Amino acid sequence: MRSFLIAGNWKMNASPSEGVEKARIIQQKLSGKNLHNTLLICPSFITIPAVQGELHHASVKVGAQNVSEQEDGAYTGEVSTGMLKDAGCKYVITGHSERREYYHETSELIARKTKKVLESGLKPILCVGEKLESRKAGDQEKIVADQLKPVFDTIPSHLARNMVIAYEPVWAIGTGETATPEQAQEMHASIRKMISDSWGDEIATSIQILYGGSMKPANAEELLSQPDVDGGLIGGASLQPESFLEILEIAESLV
Ligand code: PEP
Repeated sequence: MRSFLIAGNWKMNASPSEGVEKARIIQQKLSGKNLHNTLLICPSFITIPAVQGELHHASVKVGAQNVSEQEDGAYTGEVSTGMLKDAGCKYVITGHSERREYYHETSELIARKTKKVLESGLKPILCVGEKLESRKAGDQEKIVADQLKPVFDTIPSHLARNMVIAYEPVWAIGTGETATPEQAQEMHASIRKMISDSWGDEIATSIQILYGGSMKPANAEELLSQPDVDGGLIGGASLQPESFLEILEIAESLV
């Protein structure tokens, strides 16, 4: 049985002191509570140590939003997997649509980063998802398959079992528009089938597939109730500790 991963992507929000404030609220509300699921916070690089220092709960983890594909050396402005591990990170988001769109990250680069993350012992949350015009043309599965192909080609199955995939339709990110539970389930099931075709059934059954795109307390229950939705990657609603924790509570009620 897969548990839920409720992951917050703070994007370029929350300075170290603001991050501490949010993390303190989360720590205080969860202190002494036993969770069935995992809560993950992905602050900006500079806010990671401050947030990490406030969290002392076995089921609450910290992750990064991006990473270098390189080990170390002369790569000005980059951050390595080793640095993230040393700072206490357990997860790294790779291939977020904002990285693809604004920083021109290709699916091949993203596959290499994802492999690097896996080799380091961190867990990648690999994001895939179509734009609105592809959804309108009914091409969404082809787009996602094309985004996943270099990942299947690059990553061997023994590494793949530690992956998380996030289906994030671009038209639903930060727009207030959400995929219907049926649209989410349909895509999640087809991603699971693609995983099974490439890495086998056992891995396809165990990999968590998250939904991302305007998830909030009001729609979390219907999305998380879908059989192939194993959590959420949450932007806007994760910036408010109260709404983020409300989504976690919904996940807890569904286990
Ligand atoms: C995201 O950034 O991954 C995301 C899903 O954002 P939002 O929840 O704000 O749509």
